[in-house]
Amino acid sequence: MLPDLAPIGPVSRPILRFAPSPNGYLHLGHAYSALLNARLARRLGGVVLLRIEDIDIGRCRPAYAEALLEDLAWLGLAYPQPVRRQSDHFATYAAVLDELRRRGLLYPCFCSRAEIAAAVGRRGETPRDPDGALLYPGTCRALAPAEVERRLAAGTLHTLRLRMDEACALCSEGLTMRVCDCDCREGSVAVDPRCWGDVVLGRRDVPTSYHLAVTVDDALQGVTHVVRGADLLAATAIHRLLQRLLGLAEPCYHHHRLITDDDGRKLAKSVESLPLRQLRARGITAGDVRRDLGFGDLEAGA
Ligand code: GLU
Repeated sequence: MLPDLAPIGPVSRPILRFAPSPNGYLHLGHAYSALLNARLARRLGGVVLLRIEDIDIGRCRPAYAEALLEDLAWLGLAYPQPVRRQSDHFATYAAVLDELRRRGLLYPCFCSRAEIAAAVGRRGETPRDPDGALLYPGTCRALAPAEVERRLAAGTLHTLRLRMDEACALCSEGLTMRVCDCDCREGSVAVDPRCWGDVVLGRRDVPTSYHLAVTVDDALQGVTHVVRGADLLAATAIHRLLQRLLGLAEPCYHHHRLITDDDGRKLAKSVESLPLRQLRARGITAGDVRRDLGFGDLEAGA
């Protein structure tokens, strides 16, 4: 049975969310996203929820989660409590996976990254998904059921992949994404998730993936407007497909520009680009950050 994914509580006003992953310290790119969420919430007369996206149990650290709460408070941003932490909700994601599996839309994949690279290499071509990762060649899709059972019974580690063609055949007809600009004017654009191939919805280590958790949580939290970086624009096609498959409400999306460093490279926590706490230690104030990023109009506490 699909868990009830209707929003918790009545949806009486626009709901936005800022959803960082605590796998490093927040940098200026996060500050931009958090402040833009605050600005659009104000324009829409809505509220921004904070969500801690910590499903990556190998890379996320409680200390980074603590630090991000501190950094956001320093920036002058306050959020309703309690804050949702994805690692508290693995049972919910597992139930959604079960439902998709019951409908024949998932299959276990036992391939390691090296095996995928080798299989793709043997084909003599290297098709990639929009994030630049090798497109899964479908090795495990056609495994005989007895072989699947044997490997599962042996406890072989596996991911769960979406049967993209079957899922699209069911519901990608006329798939669109609602978009809105900074003045909250709405439009709609066509999206096609097929370029992602059979995406992983259940990881080896936890019963979800980013795509599944973000889609389920946006629905459960009644999110009406998703404001996030342009690096997630292409992935929205997957989220739209999952919303259709699961019968979930469709938020409106705004993908903002990415803040780049002096060399024009996207800031990433992995290279520790300008953590906010480092700026703070250098004597830069939250007001300076807000002004530099173009949010001089947002008062602290807005
Ligand atoms: N947790 C993601 C990140 O830190 C953002 C996900 C989203 O906004 O949909 O990049």
